[in-house]
Formats: sequence, C-alpha cells, structure tokens
Amino acid sequence: MTGTIVVFVVAALAIAGLIVFLVSRARKKGATSPPPPDDQERAIQVAWVETYGMDRKVAPFITKVMGSQLNCRNGTGWTVGAECVAGMSWADLNACAVAWPTLETKFSETAFAHELLHAKGWREGRATDHFSPEFQAEVARANEALRKAGL
Ligand SMILES: [Zn+2]
Repeated sequence: MTGTIVVFVVAALAIAGLIVFLVSRARKKGATSPPPPDDQERAIQVAWVETYGMDRKVAPFITKVMGSQLNCRNGTGWTVGAECVAGMSWADLNACAVAWPTLETKFSETAFAHELLHAKGWREGRATDHFSPEFQAEVARANEALRKAGL
C-alpha cells in the first residue's frame, strides 16, 4: 500500500517536472527566436505595455483556442467543467488562453485584454475582481487602444 503511494507520488512529481521543463523550454525558445509574424506582439505592446504600464519581458504566454476546441456558446468559448469560458489564465505558468472564433477575429473582440489584466494582478500580487468597475474600465481602455491600432 505504502509502495503504491510512493510510486504514485514519484509519477506525479515526474509529470510535474516534465511540464515545468516543457514550459521553460518553450519560453527560452521564444526568447531567442524572432517575434511571431502575426499581430500578437503589437497587441501585447498596446495592451500590456502602453495601457497597463507593464514590462514586455514579463508578459504572459498567450495561447489562442480555436476551431473544434470552441464547443460552447455558439463556437465562442470552450467548456471547463460546467462552465463555458472565453478565456483563462494561470498565474503559476504566467500563461493565458483566449478563445479565437475565426481567423478574422480581432484582439479587441476577445478576452485578451481581460486575461492580461488578471496577469497584471498576479504581477502586482493582488487578486483581481472581474466584476469591479475599475477592472471593467481598464479592460475597456485596453480594448479601445487595440481597436485604434486596428487590432
Ligand atoms: Zn476573469
């Protein structure tokens, strides 16, 4: 019995280690290769750096969730447990995922600015309240700047 638990713990630690290794490798790779050719770099500059006043170096890793992964709310979100979400953030991974319904989708139409504001909260060591007027106003300001930049 104890042996089984030890094997389980060792396996769990190995998997956790692998995830940390893959994420750190992906980050290092990103740091040495040129910025992606799409508009994501510009969007991070406009929302994260210029609107939220954050350092580009600590911007979260952004993943777009697309295609058949968008399985709820008319193809604009994906299911997490019982919920349909348009974005998610993980403080410990410094990563965000954003629903991207079509190839024509603009950053200002997604949860991009919302998720980045959560990321800013982690960086500043405070919890963020999605429903507070301050949070909503900041997201609206970032989305307006993104729209002006054509993003
Ligand atoms: Zn949120």
